[in-house]
Amino acid sequence: MATVFIPASTSAVLLDIEGTTTPITFVKDVLFPYIREHLEDYLSNHWEEDECKQDVQLLKKQLFDGHFDTTLGAKVEGKSYERIAERIGCRPEEITFLTDVTREAKAAEEAGVNVVVVVRPGNMELTDDERAHYKLITSFNQLKPTGPV
Ligand SMILES: [Mg+2]
Repeated sequence: MATVFIPASTSAVLLDIEGTTTPITFVKDVLFPYIREHLEDYLSNHWEEDECKQDVQLLKKQLFDGHFDTTLGAKVEGKSYERIAERIGCRPEEITFLTDVTREAKAAEEAGVNVVVVVRPGNMELTDDERAHYKLITSFNQLKPTGPV
């Protein structure tokens, strides 16, 4: 798949997680079981260590500027993306949203958000119309900023 340019007008990249950042099968079969099995022991054993504290702070502050759950609305409703933009403090047109679900992509697009559909193993098959309509990537390496992101 080709390079997808993130518009220069983008001030926030909004990421769906499951099926977007990783294949759904990896999340369900590897990531969640691994975390369930190891997280509590890991944090219990390392919580007082500076490295662990720094890692937690990095996760909270540097990797993610915010997270949005469905309390702001369902991901298949355009209003949800307007609320997210309001919460971020920008216009929907300044957001680039990456998702694996075209119903979410459609809702975000209706709100004015720039949308990229992520194609990963295990995701729902796209129709020919969806393949023609949306910008598609199989890897984040295909994303190239055209300006400040
Ligand atoms: Mg998803």
